[in-house]
Amino acid sequence: MSDTAHAIGVPGLPVIRHLYVHVPFCPRICPYCSFFVVPADRRRSRPFVDAVLAELRTRTDSCQLQLETIYLGGGTPSALTTEDLERLIAGIMAHCSCAPREFTIEANPTTLSREKAQMLRRAGVNRVSLGAQSFDPAVLTVLGRQHAPDRIRATWQIVREAGFDNLGLDLIFGVPGQGRASWLTTLREAVELKPEHLSAYSLTFEEDTPFFEKLQFGELAKNAEDDEWMFRTTGEVLAEAGLHRYEISNFAREGFASRHNSAYWRGSDFLGIGPGAVSTVSGRRWRNSEDLGHYMSWVENREPAHSEEEHLDAATLAKERWIFGIRTSEGVAGSEADPAFAPLREAGLAVHRDGRWILTDEGLLRADAVAVWLM
Ligand code: SF4
Repeated sequence: MSDTAHAIGVPGLPVIRHLYVHVPFCPRICPYCSFFVVPADRRRSRPFVDAVLAELRTRTDSCQLQLETIYLGGGTPSALTTEDLERLIAGIMAHCSCAPREFTIEANPTTLSREKAQMLRRAGVNRVSLGAQSFDPAVLTVLGRQHAPDRIRATWQIVREAGFDNLGLDLIFGVPGQGRASWLTTLREAVELKPEHLSAYSLTFEEDTPFFEKLQFGELAKNAEDDEWMFRTTGEVLAEAGLHRYEISNFAREGFASRHNSAYWRGSDFLGIGPGAVSTVSGRRWRNSEDLGHYMSWVENREPAHSEEEHLDAATLAKERWIFGIRTSEGVAGSEADPAFAPLREAGLAVHRDGRWILTDEGLLRADAVAVWLM
């Protein structure tokens, strides 16, 4: 079937409005990373793009794409060559009858040249999320990152000059040895760049990562008090700069909350393509193989590229929406008389507003424990 025929769609098939593309390549694997990633390899870049586009064509036999958001994540999508990225984006856009409202790419300060940034803007990408992580060279070294703070600023300027007016920075706090002053400096440096969006994640020590192992053997340590301080300070500093928390780790200027991630949190269906990508369509959830070789050969042989599949009933989907919703500034719908929330309100962890329960900043700080209590 031609790309045009796919763009027109077939009545009766589920409509997909949100597309995620997983690009697993990274210039260097960070010691805390638990995503499905492989070292960047220019020789695999071209066949990888071919495989992803072949998967997209196959998937659209059983769903209709009316894409409002597209998200190229990873890994480091900007690690693909300019030519391969352009081909990937053109292949995706061939399935869109009109421009998606939000088209995001995750980028790394070491892999975004002026030429690549200009191509991305021309090709229809309208949002860049830059993995800065920190403006403190010592923290970047602990995190195993290759870039220096100056590189973040230089890349930021390149992307702005390419015409992007929706830029985000990703930062990490709670890094061993980071200290409060370092985090405060990073926040201030980030604010100086006037981002439209900012994500601030607390470092987690995921199993099977070098960081996890070092934590087990006492070579790295966490400081819970500093983590709490950093969480609170983040909200205060960013609010002063006009960036408001709309999800536990995400902040945006008015009108710049991520449409794509908000769709996940509201429980919308989405299609994920690429190795390791997850999809949820009409109560069916599947995950593609996390073995790049298997993924590519499956797609080549037109076999389903997924290795895990489950069917979710309405109650499970509702519970998931609830778990994600309680972490957002929209909160969850509920009666003010709900006895489960009374102790949370009394403790200053939740408020009831316009028929919804919303966690306060204190509640968000304890969101995991609050969710367990409420479930
Ligand atoms: S750049 Fe991001 S995705 Fe890649 S290894 Fe580091 S943390 Fe993981």
